[in-house]
Amino acid sequence: MQNALTGLVSSVKQALTTECCSVYLADYEQQHFMLMATDGLNPDAIGKIAIGFSEGLIGWVGQREEPINLAKAQLHPRFKVTPEVSEDRFSAFLGCPIIHHRKVLGVLTIQQAVDRVFNEDEESFLVTLAAQLASVLANAEMRQAASESNKNQTQNGQLKGLPGAPGIAIGQAHILEPANDFNAISLKRSDEPDKELAHFYRAVKITKAEFNRLAERMSGHLPPDALAIFDVYHQLLDAASLGREIEQQIAEGWCAKSALKRVVEKFARQFDDMDDSYLRERGTDIRDLGQRVLNNLLDTEQRKIKLPDKVVLVADNVTATMLAEVPREQLVAIVSLKGSVNSHAAIMARALGIPAVMAVDELPLLHWQGQRLIVDGYHGHILLSPAEAICNEYQQLITEDAVLSAAYQQEIGLPSQSACGKRFSLMVNSGLAIELETTAPQYTDGVGLYRTEFPFIMRSRFPTEQEQVELYRKVLEMYPGRPVIMRTLDVGGDKALPYFSIVEENPFLGWRGIRLTLDHPEIFLVQIRAMLKANLALDNLYILLPMISDLAEVDESLRLIKQACFEVSDELAIELPKPQVGVMIEVPSIMYQLPELARKVDFCSIGTNDLTQYLLAVDRNNPRVASLYDAMHPAVLRALYQLVQQAQGLQFAISVCGELAGEPAGVLLLAAMGYSSFSMNSSNLAKIKWLLRRVEMSELALLLPEVLACTSAKHVRLHIHRFLEQKQLLTQLRA
Ligand code: PEP
Ligand code: MG
Repeated sequence: MQNALTGLVSSVKQALTTECCSVYLADYEQQHFMLMATDGLNPDAIGKIAIGFSEGLIGWVGQREEPINLAKAQLHPRFKVTPEVSEDRFSAFLGCPIIHHRKVLGVLTIQQAVDRVFNEDEESFLVTLAAQLASVLANAEMRQAASESNKNQTQNGQLKGLPGAPGIAIGQAHILEPANDFNAISLKRSDEPDKELAHFYRAVKITKAEFNRLAERMSGHLPPDALAIFDVYHQLLDAASLGREIEQQIAEGWCAKSALKRVVEKFARQFDDMDDSYLRERGTDIRDLGQRVLNNLLDTEQRKIKLPDKVVLVADNVTATMLAEVPREQLVAIVSLKGSVNSHAAIMARALGIPAVMAVDELPLLHWQGQRLIVDGYHGHILLSPAEAICNEYQQLITEDAVLSAAYQQEIGLPSQSACGKRFSLMVNSGLAIELETTAPQYTDGVGLYRTEFPFIMRSRFPTEQEQVELYRKVLEMYPGRPVIMRTLDVGGDKALPYFSIVEENPFLGWRGIRLTLDHPEIFLVQIRAMLKANLALDNLYILLPMISDLAEVDESLRLIKQACFEVSDELAIELPKPQVGVMIEVPSIMYQLPELARKVDFCSIGTNDLTQYLLAVDRNNPRVASLYDAMHPAVLRALYQLVQQAQGLQFAISVCGELAGEPAGVLLLAAMGYSSFSMNSSNLAKIKWLLRRVEMSELALLLPEVLACTSAKHVRLHIHRFLEQKQLLTQLRA
């Protein structure tokens, strides 16, 4: 860090042909800025001169949070004489705050002897640099926390992310990197070149064997000149070609993966830049080749790592496939460096009933392998290699949580009703996470949302009709006589199919859910046919359409469902009952077409996760705007209230299946508004039932107008918090 800052100030001074450049970094504990690097001031002052947050021009830049450009700094009332830095010969001063996520991390300054205001170009250059420096500094801060806790088992390795799923867990980090992405590989050095080399050779050997097998398999189908590509690949991997470069990188101290990445990217870039289109294409060959070697390298590494007994799964972006790789009984928590509160990785964690922390900014993943971690999913904190005493404290909380859960479980068999006897329908959301619902089917009113994406995501191709029939049949059979609402494929957004790549600038506003499946009726029809066949003699299937934004999509879906019904009836020579069809309310446009919708379909279900994202224009997966994403936003609450009132007027069945229904505060508000059908992660069901059984509808009726009058989500939460406190329920809802 020190070297980097020293290099930076010299480069800036040179680039701007100025006489001085310095960096001051903020220390929030001491409430001052410390001079960390300078080219122009007295070097002896580095690390010694601190300027209070409210002192001098540096403090002023920090307070104003904007650049300050002065021709005669000494004449400014905020100028503070600091003889130790020897700046009396400078007159011109430009200071730029270094800000990350609204927090001032430091100040970057340039100074010059002449009396002049720095020009616009110089100012915009410094502003740009400070903005770039901000994310590097924020990252460096966290890296340091990670490596310090690596060295000495201290208590200071706390990292902050976003609370993804509630609960606390203690376990060992197990890092999974998506095997198919060079971008996810962070460059790393190694002290054991011989080992790295052996690693690399082994991966090359396996890759070559793969090519031999591929060439053999293709030999009947491809002409000899096309097969020659495999020979080229062989040669490229040989020591005389890419292989040698990679060996050299390993000898220079890079680990095998990093060496491979550096060489592949270098060569691929060279090809990319060529004018000839044939040669440009060869960049793809190099990447493909590199990819295969990388997969084999990672495979070998992953196989070597024995899973700890308590696994905290850490990945850049936790996917459903990764979750499936760790046995359920060993998985205690999830840490996803990307994603946010309502991205699907967090929902999966909640479905599994394990804590999750999301958006732990740009951390170097590999530092964490095998480290003991405490994952606090309530606050979104992670403690790296915590001391024994801290572990004991958290263990205490884990035990308390278990006691509370046991209390909820005691009432799981009792009716779902309020203290005054109002009945609710409590159903489970199923499908996205591994099939391990924590609530037994007999204690639920059915499945309110079966997300069919998971079996599609877990495969390397679209599942066949028969595969889908078997899968859906199992689910429908688990809930005899109770509704199972199966949603048609909702991929796109943050749910990608590994074999059907969609690259879009704005995936959540793009080809997602019903938009995609209506463009591919063959996928839609096969899925509906499979659902209908699975439903034979059970008759508890309901079909739900995701991401509807336009009535024409409903018409087209109904037409295809009718066609599938007709086809299956014809094929099996029986009269099939037409299942009930519903629409997800998650795109705001459809909220305004409820009467038309009510005439076309049998029911609707509100997906508050997406409705919040689209109403507030906040990407549910983007940690930068996570603080703006809140289903308790007054606008969302008013929309929900209007929806239920309108649906009641139309006698149109309405339920809520977004995450809000599984949140204590959320379900209380929804019940107060008049909703009575909720679908939630099965791990929340017992708690929600327990809570609803303790409230009177008359109390909720008083709470509602107060909450609807709130002007911010924060106030809404505060109100409900107080309500729960008064009823002495708060301490029983979490440890
Ligand atoms: C929702 O959007 O609220 C919902 C239930 O669907 P998903 O989370 O799968 O997008
Ligand atoms: Mg949705």
